[in-house]
Amino acid sequence: MNNERTPAGRVRVIGYTWSPRGHEVRDFLARSRIPYLWIDYEHNEAARAEVAELGLGTRSLPLLRFSDGTDLVDPSDEELAEKVGLQTEPGAPFYDLIIVGGGPAGLAAAVYGASEGLRVVLIDREAPGGQAGMSEAIENYLGFPDGLRGSELAERSVRQATRFGAEIVVARDVVGLADDEPNRVVTLDDGSTLAAHAVLLALGVSWRMLEAPGCDRLIGRGVYYGGAAAAIPTCRERDVLMLGAGNSAGQAALYLARYAKSVTMVAPEAEFSDKMSEYLLGRIERTANIHLRPHSKVTDVSGDELLERVTVEDVDSGEQEVVETSTLFVYIGAAPRTEWLDGVLERDEHGFVLAGPDLEGRVEWPLERPRELLETSMPGVFVAGDVRSGSVKRVGAAVGEGSMAIQFIHNHLRS
Ligand SMILES: Cc1cc2nc3c(=O)[nH]c(=O)nc-3n(C[C@H](O)[C@H](O)[C@H](O)COP(=O)(O)OP(=O)(O)OC[C@H]3O[C@@H](n4cnc5c(N)ncnc54)[C@H](O)[C@@H]3O)c2cc1C
Repeated sequence: MNNERTPAGRVRVIGYTWSPRGHEVRDFLARSRIPYLWIDYEHNEAARAEVAELGLGTRSLPLLRFSDGTDLVDPSDEELAEKVGLQTEPGAPFYDLIIVGGGPAGLAAAVYGASEGLRVVLIDREAPGGQAGMSEAIENYLGFPDGLRGSELAERSVRQATRFGAEIVVARDVVGLADDEPNRVVTLDDGSTLAAHAVLLALGVSWRMLEAPGCDRLIGRGVYYGGAAAAIPTCRERDVLMLGAGNSAGQAALYLARYAKSVTMVAPEAEFSDKMSEYLLGRIERTANIHLRPHSKVTDVSGDELLERVTVEDVDSGEQEVVETSTLFVYIGAAPRTEWLDGVLERDEHGFVLAGPDLEGRVEWPLERPRELLETSMPGVFVAGDVRSGSVKRVGAAVGEGSMAIQFIHNHLRS
């Protein structure tokens, strides 16, 4: 949605710059393309007075104040989504197609499915956009020679899908899938169910967590996974550490370097070129305030309330250096979150969902028609994008698979 305002008017968010929930709320608004004004409670006397006037303690932050005079106090994603006009409940009990996941694969399927007359609902646990929504500049997507912000791609795709009649449901987790012949049934996080002729799983992947002592406690308090845009207030004029050598880390570093004093990229690889595309590495090397620290890993993270120090170790010599920093971004790859499909669908040893020819000889196929290319071990359930075993982890590939899946779903519906 391209709102200048929400249905309740403009929104101001009052909170602690370092609070994890404050960070999540800003990220949700940014990814939903809802403009907001961020007010740092600690450094704004008027904001402190407003909070006191409402009789709220600091534990109630973040406070969201809308220009129609209404407030939200430390809302859940679901409450926030409802308030800013996003749909959080499916409008019907039955659809032709349920799409789980609103990244590029799911959004492409929603556009093609709805435009070809299918009754489609897309459900995402967060705001639509997926990993691509976190990208500050997608530079290799066909037709955008000057790059495209991931959030802009998401916003345009949501508009396109809804224009064709797809429903987009946000802030809802899908936690179960079952075969109730002739229907497929998904279970939502509140236990309610939703049925369809077909289901498309476009679940993508989630960040791999840094396993260094002290790290978990400081997530959102100086340690961040993805979502560089929402963390800008915390890294302005500061020295930032970035762990990772892939393209996502590279893009985030370039973006953050516009605001931070310096960005140091730390990675165990001998050369950043082992993982990063040449064009990106070239731009990074030409950016004066980005420094590269190969052969290195983070072994310890510490700080009282907030991140204060990170221990960086040379992987060859074992020599350690304690670096003073208040901001560490972690971009060390991603893994699928498909545990909820245990015993339901065939997956590979890493949890990626198997489909089409990869299932040959593994499970019996009960139908007369052949299994479609993106069809999983459950007939009528399809998979597209990063969560598919063997997929190419790119926006273009995810969009391609999401679009292709619709053709296979038509074949399934015909049979
Ligand atoms: C920072 C960053 C920068 C990148 N830059 C580029 C680039 O420049 N070019 C490029 O080609 N690729 C880039 N990539 C990779 C690209 O973004 C991914 O390959 C692409 O987004 C995969 O799309 P997807 O739809 O398969 O999954 P995702 O984008 O991961 O979307 C999956 C969605 O499913 C939702 N979901 C998962 N499980 C559930 C559930 N159980 N219930 C409800 N919802 C669920 C998630 O919330 C998520 O929104 C980048 C990735 C990152 C992280």
